[in-house]
Amino acid sequence: MRIILLGPPGAGKGTQAVILCETFKLPHISTGNMLREAIQTGTQLGLQAKELMDSGILVSDEVIVNLVEQRITERDCAFGFLFDGFPRTIPQAEALEEKSIKIDTIVEIEVPDQEIITRISGRRVHPVSGRNYHVKFNPPKKEDLDDETGEPLIQREDDKPETVKGRLEVYRIQTLPLIDFYLERSRKKQLKYVKVLGTDSPEEVSRLILEKIQLSG
Ligand code: AMP
Repeated sequence: MRIILLGPPGAGKGTQAVILCETFKLPHISTGNMLREAIQTGTQLGLQAKELMDSGILVSDEVIVNLVEQRITERDCAFGFLFDGFPRTIPQAEALEEKSIKIDTIVEIEVPDQEIITRISGRRVHPVSGRNYHVKFNPPKKEDLDDETGEPLIQREDDKPETVKGRLEVYRIQTLPLIDFYLERSRKKQLKYVKVLGTDSPEEVSRLILEKIQLSG
């Protein structure tokens, strides 16, 4: 199974990715998490990406495609994978096709802009694991601390209100065209396209996604 999760920042892709990956036993490939890890370990890639990420601008297609291409050669990807936050531009999606990396399922999670802003501004993360919380909707057991390690949670630089509007704009201009790109391939029966409204609870959203994936054969 090769799944792409599509949707605006804050749609709950990360949360759904964890649930779907557990269900289907797939590795979770989040380019955002990979870049944040690179920043933490201080690699060349991390140094290049940090400034762009902090201001909500996309990293170059070439860098991202190389990163993903290498990642999927690893053994855990032999039976499939789930992409979260990739592809994010038409050239990235075209690169997958040029390299004959076939995708069988697209899951689009739709959430209205106003809800996204509320979600992102309350989001807190455990930087090492990528675990996500929300101060109101999904608070950690102890304020500002990760449930599993007890380590401090942070607010991502690009989750600060002044950056979120810009990220939504980047999404609209660079990523939204992927919806038509993949809908066209779904009409040609090259892949399944599943769309859900992401405003219910995470459990309900994942139930809907699983139901729709199964229904679509
Ligand atoms: P995310 O965690 O998916 O919201 O990604 C955080 C940031 O990482 C984005 O705002 C971009 O700067 C960068 N990034 C992640 N994935 C990609 C991608 N597929 N293409 C370009 N930049 C990306």
